[in-house]
This record gives sequence, C-alpha cells and structure tokens, in this order.
Amino acid sequence: MSARINTFAGLALERNAERRDDLEFSAAQRADLRARFLLLGAEGAGGRPALVAPGSTQLRWLDRDECAALGLAELPATYLGDAGQGPLFSLSADPLQANRAAVALGAGFIDLRSAGARLAGFEAGIFAYARALAFWQSRTRFCGACGAPLELVAFGHRGRCSNRDCALEHFPRVDPAMIVIVGWGERCLLGHNASWAENRYSTLAGFVEPGESLEDAVRREVHEEAGVRVGACTYHSSQPWPFPSSLMLGFTAEAEDPTIRVGPELADARWFSVDELVAGVESGSLILPPPLSVSHELIADWLRTQSGLELARLTGG
Ligand SMILES: [Zn+2]
Repeated sequence: MSARINTFAGLALERNAERRDDLEFSAAQRADLRARFLLLGAEGAGGRPALVAPGSTQLRWLDRDECAALGLAELPATYLGDAGQGPLFSLSADPLQANRAAVALGAGFIDLRSAGARLAGFEAGIFAYARALAFWQSRTRFCGACGAPLELVAFGHRGRCSNRDCALEHFPRVDPAMIVIVGWGERCLLGHNASWAENRYSTLAGFVEPGESLEDAVRREVHEEAGVRVGACTYHSSQPWPFPSSLMLGFTAEAEDPTIRVGPELADARWFSVDELVAGVESGSLILPPPLSVSHELIADWLRTQSGLELARLTGG
C-alpha cells in the first residue's frame, strides 16, 4: 500500500468538532485577532473557487480588517479549525463581493481541481473541506421533513429546522463511492467512459447504495460495468472528493472469472498487462487518471507491486 497521502486527505488541522456548540468557545474564536478567513467565490461550473494571490500557489487568507474593508464582515463565517496559528474560517461570497475582493487585493480565484494539482497539501485540503461545507450549506436550506427554513448552528456545521414543533437537525452530507482496481493474474481491469477523451482508461467506480456494504458495492459495480465477477476485495485508502460531496473509498480486488461483458455505463473495458500499460503510457496511446485522484494511486500501486515500476516516472510526473 502506498505511504503517500491522497490529495485533499490528511489535513493537519484541529477541527474542535466537540466545541462547535460551546458558545463561550465560539465567541472567543470569533473575537481572536489572529483569525483568518478563506473567501470562496460564487459557484460556477467548477464549484466555488477560493481566493489566491496572483500567480501564486498559495491561498490568500483575509484578516479581520480586510474583511471589514471589503464589506465581508457581516457574512456568516463557518469555523474550519485551528492549525496552530489561530482560528480559520471560510466565507461564501456572492459574485459582486467576490469580484470586489479580487480587484481590491489584486488577487484571483482558483478552482478545486487546479488547487489539488498546484497548491501544497494543507492548502488544497482545507479548500476541499471548506468547499464541501459551503456546497452543503447552499443546497440544504430547508427542512426535508416539514419544509421550513433551516438555521445554521454549530459554527456552520449543522442545520436546525426553524419550525419549533419540528426542530429536526440536519448534518453535512457525504456520499460514499467505491473505486477499485481489479486484478486477474498479471493483468488489471480498466474501463473507458464514452464521455472521456479517446484512450483514457481508469479504474471502475460507483456510488454505494442504501443497504450495501462497501464490498457489496465493489462486487455489484464491477459486474454491472464490466460483467466481471469479483471475489476478495481489500481496502486500500480513501480520499475526500467534494465534487460536490463524495468520499472515495479505494479498494483492490481479484477477479474470479476474467470474462468481460461491458455494461451500459462504459464504452469499453479491458485487461491490461504491465507491458501493455507501460507501452501505452510511454507512447501516449493510453491516458490514465491524473495524480490528483485515488484512481491514479491504485494504478500506481498495482504497477509497483507487479513490476517495481513507478507510474510517475512513466508519465514524467
Ligand atoms: Zn422541520
């Protein structure tokens, strides 16, 4: 198993989850002069972007005075935690506020996929965390039981129904999805989705359904997508994947029967030997998922185990 931490995972942050309802604690955090604020811009095609210094690979955190000067002080701040230098919050701006802040500071915005590739691990991870919460807040504004508006409590981490007769509590949503590299002897199974660039292949993935274990979901998805029956499967690693709210759970598995019958979700599925995979990557005729994703790590670990080769060397990464 890889010792590497997946992109967006392993965030070195004290979340203080058990203190979010403590009013004394929250008042002290809000009043702390060291507080820093991550400004998330308006939601676009790539979700909410985060403010970055121009040409920089660093987030542009705002201090309290900057928030006041930019008219952002009244926005509800979501508490993220403390990385040892004071409380960190996120703010969700509307398009006008976001533009004004960027122009005034000479700053820009970065989307989360670019951040995962370009920012340091902590910065990409805290952006992913902030964006996941902001997405949930913007899409969970009414009670699913009675339809009354929700009030955000617990520093932005919980919604409470404003109808006192209902008062149902709503928690941030995380959707578990499995992703698996299936082996058969010295080959691995990769699939091609019709909407992808030609020659792009990846490990198989899908959402876990109600009433399924992760292993059940692995066996069902592999069979639905490629017609392959899987026996033993083993947990590999996981990755927060807030596009918009998934948690990717990586597995390795062994096929019981290599017969492929491609299902409706895929355009193609194939067994790749080490030689085929290496030749394809080196010649550019096979495109694998970018290092950002746990899929890349699953393929890299499979290749390392089979042959001792490093995928990053083949791709020049
Ligand atoms: Zn309600």
